[in-house]
Amino acid sequence: MKIASVRTHLLEHRLETAFESASMRFDRRSHVLVEVICEDGTTGWGECLGPARANAAIVETYANWLIGQNPLETEKIWALLYNALRDQGQRGLTITALSGIDIALWDIKGKHFGVSVATLLGGRFRENVRAYATGSFKRDGVDRVEDNAIEMAGHRDAGFHACKIKIGFEPDEDLRVIRAVREAIGPNMRLMIDANHGYDAIEAVRVGKQAADYGIDWFEEPVAPEQLSSYREVRKSQPIQIAAGETWHTRWGMREPVETRAIDIIQPDICGCGGFSEAKKIADLASVHGIRVIPHVWGTAVQIAAALQFMAAMVPDPARTRPVEPILEFDRTHNPFRQAVVTSPIEHDKGIVTIPRGPGLGIEIDRAALKEFRMRDI
Ligand SMILES: [Mg+2]
Repeated sequence: MKIASVRTHLLEHRLETAFESASMRFDRRSHVLVEVICEDGTTGWGECLGPARANAAIVETYANWLIGQNPLETEKIWALLYNALRDQGQRGLTITALSGIDIALWDIKGKHFGVSVATLLGGRFRENVRAYATGSFKRDGVDRVEDNAIEMAGHRDAGFHACKIKIGFEPDEDLRVIRAVREAIGPNMRLMIDANHGYDAIEAVRVGKQAADYGIDWFEEPVAPEQLSSYREVRKSQPIQIAAGETWHTRWGMREPVETRAIDIIQPDICGCGGFSEAKKIADLASVHGIRVIPHVWGTAVQIAAALQFMAAMVPDPARTRPVEPILEFDRTHNPFRQAVVTSPIEHDKGIVTIPRGPGLGIEIDRAALKEFRMRDI
C-alpha cells in the first residue's frame, strides 16, 4: 500500500455578524481539510487547526516526503515529516499541518483494517460522551452580559449539562457576564470560563478569586501560553482549576506545563498537537502525573470525529471505581459547513454525542459541500 497523492480542501464562509474572543476576531469561518489518497483508491481525511491557507501550504510541502510511503506506518511517517521541517518547525503551523496528515493516515489505517481509529488506538472504552456547549463570543453592537446569558440558557434548554463562556476582555465586565450567565442557567449546569489568554497574572488572579463564587469548573487559558511561570502563579493564587493546551504542540510542548503542574487539565487539540500519534503520547504523559485530559475542539465534523475517536480510547484509571469521563467540546457558533462536510452530521441528543463506529474516523465526506464552501479568492 502506497500514498499516491495529497490534496488540501480550503473552506470558507463569510459571517454576517463578526464575533471575537479575547485573542482573535472572526469575520469568516475558514478551515482546511486534508485528503490523502492511496494507490489502491483508499482515501483518508484529516483537518488542521489554525490558519487554513498557511496550513495548506505546509501540508503541500510535506507531500514531497509523503508520496510513495506506506500509509499504515503512521509512527514512521510522523518521524519522517517532523524531522523534515524540524530545524525551523518544532511547534506551530508545522505541527498543525502534520496533525491533519496524521489524522488522515489513521483514517486510512482504520479503513484498511475495517475498524475504527479508537479500536486501533487500543479500544473503545465508551460509545458516547457528554458534550459541553462552547459559545458566548463577543458580538458587535450587542450587550455582552444579556447576550451571553440568553445564549447559555438556550444551551441548557437544549439539554447540555455544561457550557463554556468567553472572558479575557475587561475584568469587571467579564465578572458581570459570569454572574449573569450563572443566574440564567441556574445552579446545576456546569460552567467553565475561557480567557483565551487575554489577562496578565494580576487580572487572572483577581477574576479567578471573584468568579469562584459562581461555581466555575475550570478557568481556561488565563494568561499567555508562553508564560508558564504566570500559569503556576495563577494556579496557586486563586481557587479555580486551570486548563490549557490548545496552543501547545507535541509531547515536548506539553511536557513542562504537565511536569511542573502549571495546569490541572491539559487540552490537546488532535488537529493541532500532532494528530493521534502525538495525542496518545501526551495523554500517557498526563497520566504519569495525574493530570486530567480534555481535548480541545474547534473545527468541522472531521475534527469532531477525530476528537471522538480519541476520546473513545481514553483509558480510565482502573484503580478508580468512579473514573472521570472525558467531555466533548461542542462549538455552537455559526459555521454552516461544520456538519455539511459529512454525509451524516455529528449532532448531540440532549447533550450526548454518539461516537461513530464505522472504519477509520467513521465519517463520509460530502464532496458537494466541499465545492459549495470552497474558498473563492485564491
Ligand atoms: Mg479555549
